[in-house]
Amino acid sequence: MIRTLKPVGILMGRLPYGADLLASLNQICAEKKITLGRIEAIGAVQEARLQYYDQGKKQYQNLRVKRPLEIVSLVGNVSLKEDHPMVHAHICLADDEGNAFGGHLAPGTIVFACEFTLQLFEGPAFERGHDTQTGLPLWKPED
Ligand code: ZN
Repeated sequence: MIRTLKPVGILMGRLPYGADLLASLNQICAEKKITLGRIEAIGAVQEARLQYYDQGKKQYQNLRVKRPLEIVSLVGNVSLKEDHPMVHAHICLADDEGNAFGGHLAPGTIVFACEFTLQLFEGPAFERGHDTQTGLPLWKPED
């Protein structure tokens, strides 16, 4: 499924110290009723929780990093899952030697400082549903 989207605005702001990164972004979307958009952010986290999707087992593996890291890049989108806005974001983090790693952003990543840009689009939301081929909640084909 592919659709041409019209940008209707950009929300820019920062997240508070100590906030859960993913939960905060989801909360902003819920409060502002954002169901279709793209997101990016930079900053730093106090600790991180990421996931890696094992394609063979069709399940997520968890990765926890309990130390301060730079957010080199966070990219993602906003769509609808079970009638709620859902932020799907991937993040690249770097340590004090510049080593980078990343993955699927999971709850439990704690903000040190974070500046985000959230671009909103017009039109009906993309909706997620279970995809049998991958086991993931992917965007459903539109009829
Ligand atoms: Zn992902």
